[in-house]
Amino acid sequence: MKHEKIYNDGKYVPQRMCISCRSVLPKEQLIRVAKMKDGTVKVADKGGRGVYVCNKQDCILKLKKSNGLSRGLKTNVPDEIYEECSNVR
Ligand SMILES: [Zn+2]
Repeated sequence: MKHEKIYNDGKYVPQRMCISCRSVLPKEQLIRVAKMKDGTVKVADKGGRGVYVCNKQDCILKLKKSNGLSRGLKTNVPDEIYEECSNVR
């Protein structure tokens, strides 16, 4: 079977994987946390090296418990980043 790309109104929708539950979802349904070139970590759509997590409290909490962002980004991620993820609507 051919790999099918998902289109929405004829527009290609990029898919990304949540590092918490490993679901693959359209990028806009995920929160991107990135480690910038200067080493700072922030919630950002662009720049640096990014990882994705679902915009769901379950996933964010699970990730916080497992320290998943720190592991995914290979740097120390402060609790505030998880808070920020929780507040993204
Ligand atoms: Zn998830």
